[in-house]
Amino acid sequence: GKITFTMIKPGERNQENIGPILTKITENGFRIEAMKLVKLRTKQAEVFYSHLSDKPFYNDLVKYMTSGPVLAMILEKENAVSDFRVLIGDTDPTKAKEGTIRNLYAESLQKNAIHGSDSDENAALEAGFFFSTSERY
Ligand code: ATP
Ligand code: MG
Repeated sequence: GKITFTMIKPGERNQENIGPILTKITENGFRIEAMKLVKLRTKQAEVFYSHLSDKPFYNDLVKYMTSGPVLAMILEKENAVSDFRVLIGDTDPTKAKEGTIRNLYAESLQKNAIHGSDSDENAALEAGFFFSTSERY
Protein backbone atom coordinates (compact mmCIF):
# COMPACT_ATOMS: atom_id res chain seq x y z
CA GLY A 1 0.00 0.00 0.00
CA LYS A 2 1.09 3.54 -0.65
CA ILE A 3 -0.43 5.59 2.18
CA THR A 4 -0.60 5.59 5.93
CA PHE A 5 -2.47 7.80 8.37
CA THR A 6 -0.79 9.43 11.37
CA MET A 7 -1.59 11.82 14.19
CA ILE A 8 0.86 13.65 16.40
CA LYS A 9 -0.91 13.21 19.72
CA PRO A 10 -1.90 16.02 22.17
CA GLY A 11 0.30 17.44 24.91
CA GLU A 12 2.72 20.26 25.56
CA ARG A 13 5.77 18.10 24.83
CA ASN A 14 4.35 16.86 21.55
CA GLN A 15 3.49 20.43 20.50
CA GLU A 16 7.09 21.47 21.18
CA ASN A 17 8.36 18.52 19.15
CA ILE A 18 6.13 18.95 16.09
CA GLY A 19 8.99 20.44 14.05
CA PRO A 20 11.54 17.68 14.79
CA ILE A 21 8.89 14.96 14.32
CA LEU A 22 7.89 16.38 10.91
CA THR A 23 11.59 16.55 9.96
CA LYS A 24 12.02 12.85 10.86
CA ILE A 25 8.99 11.95 8.76
CA THR A 26 10.04 13.85 5.64
CA GLU A 27 13.73 12.85 5.98
CA ASN A 28 12.60 9.23 5.90
CA GLY A 29 10.97 9.59 2.51
CA PHE A 30 7.33 10.14 3.39
CA ARG A 31 5.46 12.73 1.30
CA ILE A 32 2.75 14.71 3.09
CA GLU A 33 -0.46 14.16 1.13
CA ALA A 34 -2.75 15.91 3.65
CA MET A 35 -2.30 17.68 6.98
CA LYS A 36 -4.44 19.56 9.51
CA LEU A 37 -4.63 20.42 13.20
CA VAL A 38 -7.78 18.83 14.61
CA LYS A 39 -9.78 19.07 17.81
CA LEU A 40 -11.10 15.52 18.24
CA ARG A 41 -14.56 15.33 19.78
CA THR A 42 -15.20 12.58 22.33
CA LYS A 43 -17.48 10.69 19.94
CA GLN A 44 -14.82 10.77 17.19
CA ALA A 45 -12.10 9.52 19.53
CA GLU A 46 -14.42 6.75 20.76
CA VAL A 47 -15.07 5.65 17.18
CA PHE A 48 -11.40 5.96 16.18
CA TYR A 49 -10.36 3.66 19.07
CA SER A 50 -13.54 1.51 19.16
CA HIS A 51 -11.46 -1.65 18.56
CA LEU A 52 -9.92 -1.00 22.02
CA SER A 53 -13.23 -0.29 23.83
CA ASP A 54 -12.88 -3.39 26.03
CA LYS A 55 -9.40 -2.38 27.25
CA PRO A 56 -8.95 -0.97 30.77
CA PHE A 57 -7.08 2.06 29.35
CA TYR A 58 -9.80 2.97 26.79
CA ASN A 59 -11.56 5.76 28.73
CA ASP A 60 -8.27 7.41 29.69
CA LEU A 61 -7.08 7.14 26.09
CA VAL A 62 -10.23 8.87 24.78
CA LYS A 63 -9.82 11.62 27.42
CA TYR A 64 -6.18 12.09 26.47
CA MET A 65 -6.83 12.21 22.73
CA THR A 66 -9.49 14.92 23.25
CA SER A 67 -7.35 16.96 25.68
CA GLY A 68 -5.73 19.11 22.99
CA PRO A 69 -4.98 19.46 19.31
CA VAL A 70 -3.82 16.53 17.20
CA LEU A 71 -1.89 17.02 13.96
CA ALA A 72 -3.49 14.60 11.50
CA MET A 73 -1.70 13.62 8.28
CA ILE A 74 -1.87 11.27 5.35
CA LEU A 75 1.62 10.15 4.31
CA GLU A 76 2.60 8.58 1.01
CA LYS A 77 5.50 6.18 0.41
CA GLU A 78 6.04 2.66 -0.89
CA ASN A 79 5.18 0.28 2.00
CA ALA A 80 3.92 3.31 3.93
CA VAL A 81 2.15 1.41 6.72
CA SER A 82 4.97 -0.94 7.69
CA ASP A 83 7.81 1.54 7.05
CA PHE A 84 6.04 4.12 9.20
CA ARG A 85 5.53 1.68 12.07
CA VAL A 86 9.26 0.95 11.95
CA LEU A 87 9.99 4.70 12.05
CA ILE A 88 7.72 5.33 15.07
CA GLY A 89 8.84 2.26 17.04
CA ASP A 90 7.09 0.05 19.58
CA THR A 91 3.82 1.19 21.21
CA ASP A 92 5.67 1.02 24.54
CA PRO A 93 8.41 3.69 24.37
CA THR A 94 10.64 1.73 26.77
CA LYS A 95 10.73 -0.99 24.07
CA ALA A 96 11.04 1.38 21.10
CA LYS A 97 14.38 1.13 19.29
CA GLU A 98 16.87 3.96 19.57
CA GLY A 99 16.24 6.76 17.09
CA THR A 100 12.57 5.92 16.56
CA ILE A 101 10.05 8.72 17.07
CA ARG A 102 8.57 7.12 20.18
CA ASN A 103 12.04 6.44 21.61
CA LEU A 104 12.94 10.09 21.13
CA TYR A 105 9.69 11.87 21.93
CA ALA A 106 7.21 9.69 23.89
CA GLU A 107 6.40 10.61 27.49
CA SER A 108 4.67 7.34 28.47
CA LEU A 109 2.87 4.30 27.08
CA GLN A 110 -0.27 6.42 26.72
CA LYS A 111 1.42 9.66 25.64
CA ASN A 112 3.54 7.89 23.05
CA ALA A 113 3.87 10.89 20.75
CA ILE A 114 2.31 9.58 17.57
CA HIS A 115 -0.19 7.22 15.94
CA GLY A 116 0.42 5.09 12.87
CA SER A 117 -2.13 2.93 11.02
CA ASP A 118 -1.67 -0.81 11.52
CA SER A 119 -2.89 -2.04 8.08
CA ASP A 120 -3.57 -0.76 4.57
CA GLU A 121 -7.28 -1.22 5.19
CA ASN A 122 -7.22 0.86 8.38
CA ALA A 123 -4.99 3.48 6.74
CA ALA A 124 -7.65 4.03 4.06
CA LEU A 125 -10.45 4.10 6.65
CA GLU A 126 -8.60 6.50 8.97
CA ALA A 127 -7.57 8.79 6.10
CA GLY A 128 -11.20 8.96 4.95
CA PHE A 129 -12.39 9.58 8.51
CA PHE A 130 -10.30 12.78 8.73
CA PHE A 131 -9.92 14.12 5.19
CA SER A 132 -12.12 14.80 2.18
CA THR A 133 -10.68 14.28 -1.32
CA SER A 134 -10.33 18.06 -1.79
CA GLU A 135 -7.96 18.16 1.20
CA ARG A 136 -5.59 15.59 -0.32
CA TYR A 137 -2.74 16.20 -2.76
P1 ATP B 1 -1.40 3.66 17.66
O1 ATP B 1 -2.70 2.97 17.28
O2 ATP B 1 -1.61 4.91 18.51
O3 ATP B 1 -0.47 3.87 16.52
P2 ATP B 1 -0.39 1.14 18.47
O4 ATP B 1 -1.07 0.59 17.26
O5 ATP B 1 1.07 0.95 18.61
O6 ATP B 1 -0.62 2.68 18.61
P3 ATP B 1 -2.67 0.22 19.98
O7 ATP B 1 -2.68 -1.13 20.59
O8 ATP B 1 -3.46 0.48 18.74
O9 ATP B 1 -1.12 0.62 19.77
O10 ATP B 1 -3.10 1.25 21.11
C1 ATP B 1 -3.54 2.54 20.76
C2 ATP B 1 -2.98 3.53 21.77
O11 ATP B 1 -3.51 3.24 23.06
C3 ATP B 1 -1.47 3.48 21.99
O12 ATP B 1 -0.73 4.19 21.02
C4 ATP B 1 -1.34 4.11 23.36
O13 ATP B 1 -1.48 5.53 23.28
C5 ATP B 1 -2.57 3.55 24.07
N1 ATP B 1 -2.24 2.33 24.80
C6 ATP B 1 -2.01 1.10 24.28
N2 ATP B 1 -1.75 0.21 25.24
C7 ATP B 1 -1.84 0.88 26.42
C8 ATP B 1 -1.69 0.52 27.78
N3 ATP B 1 -1.41 -0.74 28.15
N4 ATP B 1 -1.86 1.50 28.72
C9 ATP B 1 -2.16 2.76 28.37
N5 ATP B 1 -2.32 3.17 27.08
C10 ATP B 1 -2.16 2.24 26.12
MG1 MG C 1 -3.10 0.98 16.75
